Amino acid sequence: MRLEVDRERCVGAGMCVLTAPEVFEQDEEDGRVRLLDPEPAEIGDAVQLCPAAAITANA
Ligand code: SF4
Repeated sequence: MRLEVDRERCVGAGMCVLTAPEVFEQDEEDGRVRLLDPEPAEIGDAVQLCPAAAITANA
């Protein structure tokens, strides 16, 4: 899949990082999401768990 994250929407909740730490990390300065792997095989329920709907996954 191909992932996109919207850093403007992200509220830094960190659910994505807890769910798929090999794919997402949080910026040390503003706490917002950073994508480590834009084309991962698996991200669990990270899209659904994000409270800000900041993660988009395309097949
Ligand atoms: S779960 Fe959503 S709001 Fe939380 S850090 Fe990840 S992208 Fe940002």
